[in-house]
Amino acid sequence: MSQLVDSWGRKITYLRVSITDRCNYRCIYCQPEKHFNFIPHPEILRYEEIIEIINEAVDLGVTKVRITGGEPLIRKGIIDFIKKLKKIKRLEDISLTTNGYFLTEYAEKLKNAGLKRVNISLDSLQKDKYSQITQGGDLEKALKGIDSAILAGLLPIKINTVLIRGINDEEVENFVKLALERPLCIRFIELMPSLEEIIDNYKDKFISGLDIKENLAKKYSFNPIKTDSDNGPAKYYQIEGGKGTIGFITALSQHFCQTCNRIRLTSEGKIRPCLFSNQEIDLKKALREVGNRGEDQILRRKVIRNKIELAVKLKPKGHKIKEGISNSLSFKMSRVGG
Ligand code: SAM
Repeated sequence: MSQLVDSWGRKITYLRVSITDRCNYRCIYCQPEKHFNFIPHPEILRYEEIIEIINEAVDLGVTKVRITGGEPLIRKGIIDFIKKLKKIKRLEDISLTTNGYFLTEYAEKLKNAGLKRVNISLDSLQKDKYSQITQGGDLEKALKGIDSAILAGLLPIKINTVLIRGINDEEVENFVKLALERPLCIRFIELMPSLEEIIDNYKDKFISGLDIKENLAKKYSFNPIKTDSDNGPAKYYQIEGGKGTIGFITALSQHFCQTCNRIRLTSEGKIRPCLFSNQEIDLKKALREVGNRGEDQILRRKVIRNKIELAVKLKPKGHKIKEGISNSLSFKMSRVGG
């Protein structure tokens, strides 16, 4: 069996796929513009193309796929797409990241289609603050969505909370209380300098996950949970007496590049070896230059495999972005797939 290994000896087993750059929210740190220039539909990868690419990636050793966006649940045909993914042999784990808005409607259908688990973004537990951060989002809908995901058994549920100084940093303890009361894994995520809007005053907005952890440790007892490096970038802790857990994603203050096992497929069909490097390999262009008749299938597979292997080879050893320091890197998380 094949195994993708990058130039630094890391096994690449995880593919994150943005299936749309569109979203029903306009989170202030992600897609803040009211009139976002969305990628035209013909430039977005078709589901069949995504399945074709994932098939090859799995053949090359990828075992985990996360579907994200934009908001993946606004793309039509998502349930059938997940059903098709589920049929890929050797694909062990299919998960999805969502803002939760559509989960009351979709959680059970997703579970039945073969989705294993969900990550849900939730940056505030206050109605008005939630609406401010998401620019019009509905906290009630997100909370109901979480309930539906628990009921449907899309477990374990990870909650993604991006902390921004002066906006939601005073809510950290409320999130810890949520982890005490409910079987959720709350992950505090460091704000990344992805957009020009963020880069402006980034230093003031950034909060280090290490500082948050240190502060919490003064008040709460929590013990590290042992995970293998395959288990993602977060470090997890069990809070004493709690039903849930907390985690810290310190992409900047304590980067985890040495254990990075992922590459990304953007919504417009480019493979991005590292989130923090704008280098991308255009797979869609190469694939669409090949025909799609019976006799073209071998060539199509070859093109996909070559591009994936190239992307893995080009994956940098690590990123050089320092915590709280702005840089010239500007990218759309919704397009790349957060
Ligand atoms: N719409 C879905 C959602 O809201 O979860 C999936 C897409 S969203 C881009 C995925 C994740 O990216 C979210 O959990 C969000 O917190 C994270 N994200 C986006 N921009 C970010 C930034 N500048 N810094 C840190 N995390 C970011």
